[in-house]
Amino acid sequence: MTTKSMLQFVTRHKEMPDKRTAEQRRHDFDEIYNDFNADAAAQQAGRCSQCGVPFCQTHCPLGNNIPDWLMLTAEGRLEEAYEVSSATNTFPEICGRICPQDRLCEGNCVIEKGFESVTIGAVERHITETAFAEGWVKPPIPMFEREESIGIVGAGPAGLAAAEQLRRQGYQITVYDRYDRVGGLMIYGIPGFKLEKDVVQRREALLREGGINFVLNCAIGSDISFDDLRKKHDAVLIATGVYKARTLDMGDSNSGSDPDGNNNALVPALHYLTTSNRIGLGDKVSEYDDGSLSVHGKNVVVIGGGDTAMDCVRTAIRQDAKSVTCVYRRDRANMPGSAREVMNAEEEGVRFEWLSQPVAFSKDKNGQIKGVVCQRSRLGAPDASGRQSPEAIDASDYTLDADMVIMALGFDPEDMPNMFHEPRLKVSRWGTISIDWKTMMTSLDGVFAAGDIVRGASLVVWGIRDGRDAATHIDSWLTRNKAEASIKANQKAAS
Ligand code: FAD
Ligand code: SF4
Ligand code: SF4
Repeated sequence: MTTKSMLQFVTRHKEMPDKRTAEQRRHDFDEIYNDFNADAAAQQAGRCSQCGVPFCQTHCPLGNNIPDWLMLTAEGRLEEAYEVSSATNTFPEICGRICPQDRLCEGNCVIEKGFESVTIGAVERHITETAFAEGWVKPPIPMFEREESIGIVGAGPAGLAAAEQLRRQGYQITVYDRYDRVGGLMIYGIPGFKLEKDVVQRREALLREGGINFVLNCAIGSDISFDDLRKKHDAVLIATGVYKARTLDMGDSNSGSDPDGNNNALVPALHYLTTSNRIGLGDKVSEYDDGSLSVHGKNVVVIGGGDTAMDCVRTAIRQDAKSVTCVYRRDRANMPGSAREVMNAEEEGVRFEWLSQPVAFSKDKNGQIKGVVCQRSRLGAPDASGRQSPEAIDASDYTLDADMVIMALGFDPEDMPNMFHEPRLKVSRWGTISIDWKTMMTSLDGVFAAGDIVRGASLVVWGIRDGRDAATHIDSWLTRNKAEASIKANQKAAS
């Protein structure tokens, strides 16, 4: 029901929470946006027109009931808003911070055309931050315990969302991760200026309090065999993400994998970001201490145009690089990264070379990289995906100074059947794990999969969605197995 606090979009302008100035944020890894205060959240939520067919909701991967929690926020009924928001989202405070809202809920808000969208993500964050402050967020302690145990491989958003939901239903949950911390790419990929680490660790603490068991520094396939894992648990969920960095194809002498052993002058994006996150978390990393992975005072070139590239350039700015340039082969309009992140990067001092393709590295007499030779390009005919392909322009070469080149060209799955020594685990031609989408089960009985390892590199919000769906299917499968076993036992007893 629409109340008089709503439909204010004609007279009330869109506002985001306060953003720290570029000069302030260039020097630290703190988040750049503050939380709304209660009044600002209510005002902004009140701009919603309470659509009968809410396109914001349709374009949220979780199908969040956005109009309802906006109305409750506008009316100051935040505890109810939290109930509604958390019913469909396991980590709303995280999505509110890092979903690319301009491509999802907000980009599809019907008032976007002409009046600018409702500030959905920031309100979602405000609701959950209030819930944490008020003590409304509870650990997943079940009403009753079930004896079946589930092994989850991967403590990223997909694994954690599944773990939370299954634990609430009483299952005995163990989450295994080869990293030493919980959170997957939320802890070691995404930088603190988008998602502060204590936000992830606060969730970890709740999951532990709810009785979820974590086994860290444990790689399934080497520290524990996949076969043993299956024997140990009644069901298994694979949520291992995608980690094989793509490399540049610039001919034999210039492959993107540090051909000459160039003292870390060619660095894969995730290696660089993980190191930076570890430093922020207080770890000692020798490659950073000895200067080889530090960009301080260096000319840095980042190759790629996605969100990972944006995270690298903005991290390099904060580590006091001499210059930071992003090289992307298409133009700004065709960049896969979020427009908001590009704008933030530009404000912070990153230079963009659009329509440019690296063709070689220039090196000094010791073979040390000193520059990236690029060729200008123009956009030609659309390729199979419908995107215009870049075409090189003859004799347009130029060189960018570079002491370190960071490759942010995307990720592919590792060889999962090989990693798990399990050739019967079916994968697609891209290497992602094949599942039956009706049950989320893999080719192995009782083994399910979710998140990036199924979809390819995607988003946290899709990981949460998949983890929640997998939890529902695992529960149905175990419940049915238990019922069948009990029927069989009864029949045997009766015969
Ligand atoms: P992951 O988060 O990758 O977690 C998988 C976990 O499995 C890891 O902890 C890994 O250590 C563990 N693992 C792997 N193999 C094994 C094994 N054999 N044994 C034990 N453990 C194993 N998404 C957004 O929505 N917004 C953003 O702003 C955003 N920024 C990003 C920035 C960067 C730099 C990157 C790389 C990604 C970003 N993403 C963003 C994407 C998002 O982080 C992923 O889509 C999401 O984390 C995938 O979740 P997941 O649970 O499937 O996998
Ligand atoms: Fe928007 Fe993401 Fe929240 Fe959905 S989960 S409402 S897409 S911010
Ligand atoms: Fe409100 Fe926009 Fe969603 Fe409509 S599309 S319900 S105006 S947030």
